[in-house]
Amino acid sequence: MSPICLQCGCNLDSYEHERYARCDDCFARLAERPEALALPDHVTVCASYHPGFAEDLTAWDTFFFGDGAIKQKIRWYPPVHGKDRQSELTANLDDAKVAQLNEVLASIDLASLARFKRWMCVDDAPFVHIFSPRHNLHVSVDQFGLDDDDMPDTAKAGVRQFQVAWELLDSFSPYTMAAHYR
Ligand SMILES: [Zn+2]
Repeated sequence: MSPICLQCGCNLDSYEHERYARCDDCFARLAERPEALALPDHVTVCASYHPGFAEDLTAWDTFFFGDGAIKQKIRWYPPVHGKDRQSELTANLDDAKVAQLNEVLASIDLASLARFKRWMCVDDAPFVHIFSPRHNLHVSVDQFGLDDDDMPDTAKAGVRQFQVAWELLDSFSPYTMAAHYR
C-alpha cells in the first residue's frame, strides 16, 4: 500500500524514520512544538489519554522505559476525584512483556492507519495518543466510531492494529481506562 501522510492524507514517496509518517509541512508543524517531540531519557513509548468533552476531565501520560519501568502521570479532575489522589503511579514490566509491547507496536501498518486518519474526522471525542520514535509513531486516534460499517477495509485494519497496541499499553498501566470508566 502506498504511504500517505498521517496528518493531512497527502501522498508520500516513503516513510522516513522519526518523521512520524508525515509530509514535510505536517512534520514541520509538529516540530514547531519542541515539547511534542521530547521524551524523558530512556523512555521508549508514551501513551496518553485525553477525555475530550466529558464529565470527568482526568487525563494522563504513561511513560514506558526501556528497562520495563513505567511511570504514569495523571492530571486528576478534582470535582470527580477529590484533591488527594496521587499524581504519579509506577509499575514494572518483565522482559517478556517489554518484548510483547515492541512486537505489537512494530505490527502497526502506518499506511493503513493513515487511511483511517484520512477517513475519520471527529472533534471533542475522547482520544488516545501513542508516541514512540522507535516505531515512527506519533498519532492520535479518536475513541469514537471505530466500528463504522462504511469504513474502508484498509482503514479498519489499520485502526484495529492501533487499538490492539493501545489496549496492551493500557492494560500494563497502573491506572487503566477500565478503572476510569468504572
Ligand atoms: Zn501532511
